[in-house]
Order: sequence, then structure tokens, then C-alpha cells
Amino acid sequence: MRYCIITRNDEKSLQIENEIKSKIDLIYDDVNPDYVIAVGGDGTIIKATHSYPNSIIFGLHTGHLGFYANYSVDQIDLLVDDINNKKFKVDQVDLLSSKIYCEDGKIIHGSAINEITVVTPPRTLILDVFIDEEYFEKFRGTGFCISTPSGSTAYNKSLHGSVLDSSLKVMQLTEIAGINSNAYRTLSSPLVLSSERRIKLNAVKPQEVFITVDHVSYTVENFKSIEIYYDENNVKMAYHSHQSFLKRIKRTFLISEE
Ligand code: NAD
Repeated sequence: MRYCIITRNDEKSLQIENEIKSKIDLIYDDVNPDYVIAVGGDGTIIKATHSYPNSIIFGLHTGHLGFYANYSVDQIDLLVDDINNKKFKVDQVDLLSSKIYCEDGKIIHGSAINEITVVTPPRTLILDVFIDEEYFEKFRGTGFCISTPSGSTAYNKSLHGSVLDSSLKVMQLTEIAGINSNAYRTLSSPLVLSSERRIKLNAVKPQEVFITVDHVSYTVENFKSIEIYYDENNVKMAYHSHQSFLKRIKRTFLISEE
């Protein structure tokens, strides 16, 4: 078995990286690791899922536990013991896939653990929304956020989307500053759709948009459309003791320490 460590690159994370390296029995390999230890915050863990989609991710939070981390700084020895002696268990976390179509025929693929957003902050974005090829609405506004259940507590929550139980197989389409008047009408509520569905957003005319797939952003000059659907792959997150969905919500938003 091979492992590697990715960190937020601050002093504390680098110290922890050295401590783990001195204690772990496996071979270090940052090209094809079986296990990836992400030391930092949720952002570091999310980056690890993008860089190593097929590896088992161990999230070690250097501050408060955050949403995705299953190990804290005072559990370094526990994490090392879990890895050395294969004592950990694994949670499967669902992903959303996206295919971005450009006017010139280029297609960009990306998978998100939190969300995909399509926005044009300085201009009004006009999109025809299709669900499973069926026309749904014409949207005018800043854009959309399409989130996974585990991403429902991230950007989606700031947009007043619903917090979803992470065991649900659904995706959530949430408007970002939709315009509603006598002339323009959209649903205006977050829409929760089954994982069997496929969302397509078509530009009414080719337009420059800004697309994010978690922390990865693209400026697409000649955007035509985007398709969003459940990914057949998922992320494997290691843990020692199970953190229930409600515990995660409480520790992230309601109680600072339990
Ligand atoms: P980051 O890692 O600093 O994350 C931003 C904040 O979101 C952190 O406090 C992090 O702990 C929290 N977070 C991340 N995923 C979460 C989740 N699933 N549930 C609860 N909290 C979560 O910043 P980054 O590296 O730029 O990460 C990109 C993420 O930032 C995006 O996926 C998006 O969800 C989030 N974001 C949020 C807003 C907003 O809320 N207004 C705007 C842009 C991006």
C-alpha cells in the first residue's frame, strides 16, 4: 500500500505532515497512492478528492473539525494506527458530473463533491432550463448552483437552499439572484431532483460565463450549454468512528465544541 499527504501549506500543516511521515509504515507515492491524507481544512480535503479521485481520503482538520474531516489534530496517532493496521472504515460520498459545451465544439468535463455553479455576475444571464430534455423555465439572473447532498451545507446553504440528508440520492438546483417580475418568472425555490434526472442549462445566445466545479473555476467565453447529472463514481472518505449526518451539521453550524 502507498500513501501521500497534501496540506494547506501553512506551518502547522507542514509540521503535522512531518510527524505523520515519521510514524507511518507505508511507502510514500504521490503519483498513484492508495491513501491520501489531507491536512488542513475542508478546502484541502476537497482538493484531494479532485487530485486523487480513486484513492481513499483521510481528512485531518488543523482547526475546528469542519464538514468533511473525520480526524482532528489530537487524533494523529489514531489516524496513523488506523492506516498502519487497516483499522479504518470507509464512507462513500456522492458526486455530480458536468459536461460544459462550448460554441467551438470543445467539451469540458468535471466532477464536484460540493457543487457546480454557472454565473455571470456583471451581466444578466439568460438560460433555458431543461430537466430530462423537458423544457422547464427561462431563467434570468446571476446564475445557478447545483449541489450534491453533502454540498448542500456549503454555497447552497448561503443561497438559502435546503440542507439535505447526505444519505439521499438527489441533487439540488438553486437560483442565484433570479429576476422575478411581471415580465420574467422562474420557480424561485430550490428544486430537489432525483439522481436519475439530468439537468441541462442552455444559453439563449452564446455568452461568456464563469463556471465553478467546487474550487476549480473556468471562464468559458463561448458557452453554449451545460449538462449536470449524478456521477457513477464516488469519493471514498476514511473514518475511525462514525460521524452521523446530524452530528456533522451540529458541529459545523450549531455547537462549537461538544
Ligand atoms: P474553503 O475551503 O475556504 O471553503 C469555504 C468555507 O466553506 C469553509 O469554511 C469550509 O469549511 C466550508 N465548506 C466547504 N464545504 C462545505 C460543506 N460541504 N459543508 C459545509 N461547509 C463547507 O474555500 P474554497 O477552497 O474556495 O472551497 C470552495 C467552496 O467554497 C465551494 O465548494 C463552495 O461551496 C464554497 N463557497 C461558498 C460561498 C458562499 O457560501 N457564499 C461562495 C463561494 C464558494
